[in-house]
Amino acid sequence: MTTGVEGLRGVDTALLADLGFTGVFVSCYEDEVRWHVDDLAAFIRRAKGHGLEPFAVPCGYGRFLESDPTVDSLFVHAHPGTCQIDSRGRRLRKACPNHPKFLEWFSTSMRTLAWMLECRGFLWNEPAFYHGRGTWSCRCGYCLRLFQAAYGREMPHELTDEVLEFRRNSVVLFLLAAAAAIQSVDRRLTSLVLPPPALGREHWHTGSEDLERLASCSGVDGLCVMVPWQEMGWDMEFGIREAQGTGAQVAHRHEKPCLLWVTASPQPSSRTVETIGFAARQGVDAVVLSDYDSLVAARRFRDIRGDLRAALWAAR
Ligand SMILES: [Zn+2]
Repeated sequence: MTTGVEGLRGVDTALLADLGFTGVFVSCYEDEVRWHVDDLAAFIRRAKGHGLEPFAVPCGYGRFLESDPTVDSLFVHAHPGTCQIDSRGRRLRKACPNHPKFLEWFSTSMRTLAWMLECRGFLWNEPAFYHGRGTWSCRCGYCLRLFQAAYGREMPHELTDEVLEFRRNSVVLFLLAAAAAIQSVDRRLTSLVLPPPALGREHWHTGSEDLERLASCSGVDGLCVMVPWQEMGWDMEFGIREAQGTGAQVAHRHEKPCLLWVTASPQPSSRTVETIGFAARQGVDAVVLSDYDSLVAARRFRDIRGDLRAALWAAR
């Protein structure tokens, strides 16, 4: 993944293929796709030409598929009425997956993107309801009505088990709609989902927290799990084993793959080369190194280039 269309021009896809990478995940920012979809399409063709499998990662898009607060969405600005409402009644800058106007716009946008980009599939990046600092969403008119219809009573003001279940069901319905949209263009397009990493109790209840629920969804072809070992101060080995023990076990029960995401850099503290070797020995389906800018484009990349290449080819 790289930061935006500008960055894609500098990505050396021939080098990536030579290093032993098998695919690329391309960030497609809502506000950039509007003006630069041809640049994205050209990059994806170039990657494919070098034998890399490209996956599109829609970013922004009503900010439902986004945890990064700096990523903007013109849709959110233009349609604030489609946004989630939190338990204190405040409107958030994040579209509600149960709002029909958002769903319709999102499906149309994904069909267009699938049509324009000749990719292998899509990654649905961190679909999430809001949860933090004692508040949660969503209590918009559509969610209240859907809850009432499903449970036969008003949505409580507390985050009860039923509300949690309702949010998980909402995420799954959203993923089904997303998969249907891209498959209406090409049935071979696969859908992967990357739930937000569980970095703390506060942000745990996003509606995407139950991997079993995600993996069992017919619209999901594979799971991605972040391994935040550096952020959490864990050992790398512990982080990989933990992710394999949760994500991969669940995904494999449904005969789907599980890709592990790690933050990579040439810094010795990132242990990027060792991570690839260790993951291969643990039977990890695939490791995604995030991202191009922090790894391949980094100043000290040549320090690890040879070792990384050997590790990547050995893991294939
Ligand atoms: Zn809502």
